[in-house]
Amino acid sequence: MRRVAILGSTGSIGVQALDVVRANPGLLSVHSLVCGSNTALLARQSAEFPSAFPAAIRPDVASDGEGILERALDGCDIVLNAITGFAGLRASLMAASRGLPLALANKESLVTGGCLLEGHVARGLVEPVDSEHSTIARCLAGEAVRPLGITLTASGGALRDASPEAAEGAGPAEVLAHPTWRMGPRITVDSATLVNKAFEVLEAEWLFPGIPVDAVLHPQSIAHSLVRLADGSWKALMGTPDMRLPVQYALLGGGAPGLVADDSPADWPALRFGEIDPRRYPAFGLVKGAGRLGGTAPAAANAADEEAVAAFLAGRILFGGIARVIEHVLERTAPRAARSYRDIVDADEEARALARAFLEGSC
Ligand code: NDP
Repeated sequence: MRRVAILGSTGSIGVQALDVVRANPGLLSVHSLVCGSNTALLARQSAEFPSAFPAAIRPDVASDGEGILERALDGCDIVLNAITGFAGLRASLMAASRGLPLALANKESLVTGGCLLEGHVARGLVEPVDSEHSTIARCLAGEAVRPLGITLTASGGALRDASPEAAEGAGPAEVLAHPTWRMGPRITVDSATLVNKAFEVLEAEWLFPGIPVDAVLHPQSIAHSLVRLADGSWKALMGTPDMRLPVQYALLGGGAPGLVADDSPADWPALRFGEIDPRRYPAFGLVKGAGRLGGTAPAAANAADEEAVAAFLAGRILFGGIARVIEHVLERTAPRAARSYRDIVDADEEARALARAFLEGSC
């Protein structure tokens, strides 16, 4: 029986993780439930899993996040980090400092603090929850032929078929209608800008060092990424999108039958793959460029994007403004070495201040 600390239990991944626990009685139990501020849902979850330690880290009021996380991790066997945004890095570092296996949905942890988690990855203690990285791990497992490259697939997000003018002026209602996945608001917006895909490229570089990573558009989201092998073949894991599968794989290293719907390839739409147009997705190149610079640059890119997406969701800027905020911040940020959590927090705060000042001037 693995006791799971579920961080971000009230979010899209957290709720699906509880489905995975329900589907695996005797193999998984809930050790703790940690959320941000949705205390109503937390209370319902706590009533269903009464032996779990429940807690809310209210980002809107001063709360002892560190103390709550310490308590939530005490005595667990594995940590599922499904907190959204930069706030998740601290939890990943705490899991790593305790030597705990980390089922990682919070991609911002590796994007911003990959250098601090590198050792934990090298010890085989980070299990990716992102469907793309879960797929790659499964494609590489037991493969005798040398991998030449990793190709992540991108749905293209809600605006992929909109004209460039319509995309530029789109608001939250259009962007939040993701065509293939149901996810939290930030990652849904990031899927439309492809910031999410750029983050995933950086995440894959930390998880699978030494293998070149790129990305293609694949609107159907059936192939959850591909691996190119030295013998010329491609390997992919395919199926109807359902995040419960990679969550289950990360928590158990395998899947229980019956969790996801039984379907057939004959039911799938025709599969298409295509190049990412840099003019249509300017933020993709900006964030990947920050990744090439390394150090604190990806943390700055993430902070700029978090601020821009929050402003977009609040109706303060239109969709096209998100990439401009990221560009503005990255142009004014000199990347430094990221040697400690403090270095990364400083870069995050500096980038947020730049983004807020720009947003105030442009709103
Ligand atoms: P949601 O917005 O649906 O959920 C986020 C969760 O984090 C909620 O439980 C929220 O609590 C909690 N939270 C927010 N801020 C804090 C904080 N400061 N301290 C503690 N908890 C906090 O996001 P998703 O579930 O969609 O995504 C979570 C992570 O997983 C992201 O990093 C995302 O990129 C990644 N991911 C998500 C996928 C998906 O399909 N959804 C796929 C792959 C990766 P509350 O709501 O109570 O405030």
